[in-house]
Amino acid sequence: MIAPTVRDGTITPDRIDSAAELPIGYTDDQDGGHYRLVPTGTDEYFASSSPIDSWKRFLSPPEALLVRGRSSSTDLEVEPVVPDPVAFAFVGIRACDLAAIGLLDRVFLAPDAVDPTYATRRREVFVVAVGCVHPGATCFCASMGTGPIPRDGYDLALTELYDGDRHEFLVDVGSDRGAAVMADVSGRPAVAADDEAAAARAERAVAAMGRQLDPLDPPRAAANPEHVGWGDVAGRCLSCGNCTMVCPTCFCSATQDRTALLGDGVERWRVWDSCFTADFSSLHGNPVRATTESRYRQWLLHKLVTWHDQFGSSGCVGCGRCITSCPVGIDLTAEIRVLAES
Ligand code: SF4
Ligand code: SF4
Repeated sequence: MIAPTVRDGTITPDRIDSAAELPIGYTDDQDGGHYRLVPTGTDEYFASSSPIDSWKRFLSPPEALLVRGRSSSTDLEVEPVVPDPVAFAFVGIRACDLAAIGLLDRVFLAPDAVDPTYATRRREVFVVAVGCVHPGATCFCASMGTGPIPRDGYDLALTELYDGDRHEFLVDVGSDRGAAVMADVSGRPAVAADDEAAAARAERAVAAMGRQLDPLDPPRAAANPEHVGWGDVAGRCLSCGNCTMVCPTCFCSATQDRTALLGDGVERWRVWDSCFTADFSSLHGNPVRATTESRYRQWLLHKLVTWHDQFGSSGCVGCGRCITSCPVGIDLTAEIRVLAES
């Protein structure tokens, strides 16, 4: 079972074995380059916003073995690598991260190029989503149309109804598997007042979101790749790649061949990579994108503009992680506003 849990002073998705490991009594304080774990003094289970890390590492792990070969003095024998079956339950996943998995599905489950590692891990995922009622200052899922309430892609969707006297969960059943689980859970039928309470919490969450981005407006920035704003943001960007590591939709990778010291075996691994590294675009020994300016432009325009051409939607779901995890607090919603100006 993978769920948000407290680890190393953050709330992050990780394996848990009981509900006691959920981040009970904690929320987070997030802003550009800023993250703090904050006690709430309540016993709410889901009082935080999107976790510091995304869920993609469980579906497309940072390292995946692709091919293994064994050699003798005369032969090279290549062994197929069959990914181990895994059956995850994702508990407490927010709407933005569900939308991100929907985008990853289009990449890794494309009919003509199914990725075996992703497909094996994705196939059995049981999704217990949670309506996000405590968004952070870096969140903008409402403006991107991906949250804060999950609309599809779940087996069960919970809204935590908490006001001191009352602590209940409103449950929406999204699949037969979800219905089968709920058959063993005691409760009472929801009434209109429960739906109204959930809707009111969602409305408050939308109003509390710290940022906004129009998913259809950013393409204007693409009209001027020479805008001085690119140089300005590049002057602050460290090209560290943090934003791409935490982004739930970034999926770039590189391959590494690892040979045994005795020379009798080799393994080819896929490892996460980032378009912010010079090596990522290296051709014939030289990077195509040699400057931070060109790398930041590639990242932002792919995420917000050319993703529309490739996949028919924005590549950003508004989780805000790239803003929180940027050591210098670069905020793509602010940058795109500058770039959209003439
Ligand atoms: S670009 Fe930033 S806000 Fe958008 S999905 Fe990626 S990490 Fe989240
Ligand atoms: S935008 Fe921020 S997180 Fe991303 S590469 Fe630049 S400095 Fe690192």
